Amino acid sequence: MSFSMIVLPGDGIGPEVTREAVRVLDWFGTHQGLDVTVRHELYGATAYHAHSVAIKEDVFADLTEVDAVLFGATGGPEYDEIPKEAKRNGNLLRIRQHMEVFANLRPVIGYDELADTISMKPEAIHGVDMMIVRELNGGIYFGKPRGIDTSPNGFERGTNTLVYETPEIERITRFAFELAKQRGGHLHSIDKSNVLETHQLWRKVVTRIGAEEYRDIPLEHMIVDNCAMQIIRDPKQFDVMLADNMFGDILSDLAGGISGSLGMLPSASLSAPNDAGDRGRRRALYEPVHGSAPDIAGQGVANPLGAILSLALALELSFDAPDAAKMLRRAVRGALAKGVRTPDIVPNGHDAASTTEMTDAVLSELQHLHNA
Ligand code: NAD
Repeated sequence: MSFSMIVLPGDGIGPEVTREAVRVLDWFGTHQGLDVTVRHELYGATAYHAHSVAIKEDVFADLTEVDAVLFGATGGPEYDEIPKEAKRNGNLLRIRQHMEVFANLRPVIGYDELADTISMKPEAIHGVDMMIVRELNGGIYFGKPRGIDTSPNGFERGTNTLVYETPEIERITRFAFELAKQRGGHLHSIDKSNVLETHQLWRKVVTRIGAEEYRDIPLEHMIVDNCAMQIIRDPKQFDVMLADNMFGDILSDLAGGISGSLGMLPSASLSAPNDAGDRGRRRALYEPVHGSAPDIAGQGVANPLGAILSLALALELSFDAPDAAKMLRRAVRGALAKGVRTPDIVPNGHDAASTTEMTDAVLSELQHLHNA
């Protein structure tokens, strides 16, 4: 079977890390016959300088036509300087909404191989294998009214609206329960229902779906502030964690501490399966969780593993290659175990690898596994 992917490297370290993920994809093409046609397109400040838009309209339209989109990062000083209108058109939130990728998967793994650099105790991170399911198309990032205006008493006033309708909660809840079922695990649903009406509805809907459709999957509700503490205290208690758009965003960065660095975290964002005739495929956007990291951009030191592990998710979820995904994850762990580390995950006093050297180590592990 053949597949297609658009790569949007974007801003800051985005091009540095997506380049490495594509090198890994090329390895699977050469050594395992994986047939993915890759189309590279500009996004962000580079696209604006070339075409006066943050993303060309034909590229934007095609994002829903390919099997996968690999995205680098958006934001930073160069992006900040492009006109507001171009930013609005190219906005990552608009892309996520256009692709209708409502389910954002953010796996968090505790790497024993990194125990010497992680601030948490080795026994706390050992065995952590958690999947954060973040609602991505609704909530406070999209709710209206929004904006900054002047209130009747003459003060500047900022407004954002946290709004969810029942069907939006139902579809992400079913998605999270299905995942918990596949993993043989349980579901934690995170909210702030002690204060927010929107989250009272959230809890009510999640409870109903659990009782009506997933009686065999244990469900626990947790208030977000307690959840933040529990992630640090005992992350192993979590299997699948369901959260709204903003809480999922924040909690997954927090959980990044377990994996050692923001640069280690991958993500996949999926739509509902398409109608028959299209292999029932889901539109899919893969991106490392981190941003454009302007403080290290252009230095060749960014950790490429978030992007490479996002490719592993693409192998599994879009390219029908779950064994290749497993192999890639093993290769990443193998490279880390050999002590090859970019500066964000290197212990004090040890030499750090560059972005390219980190990928070289992963490729060399892949080759070992392939030859074995
Ligand atoms: P960031 O994720 O870019 O960086 C936070 C810190 O983590 C920085 O110290 C950075 O050097 C480090 N870091 C991030 N990725 C790394 C990697 N791969 N290897 C090593 N270190 C890494 O977040 P920020 O500094 O808050 O935001 C910078 C810009 O990125 C902003 O414009 C923000 O809006 C944007 N942003 C974009 C996305 C996205 O593209 N999805 C996500 C978050 C932030």
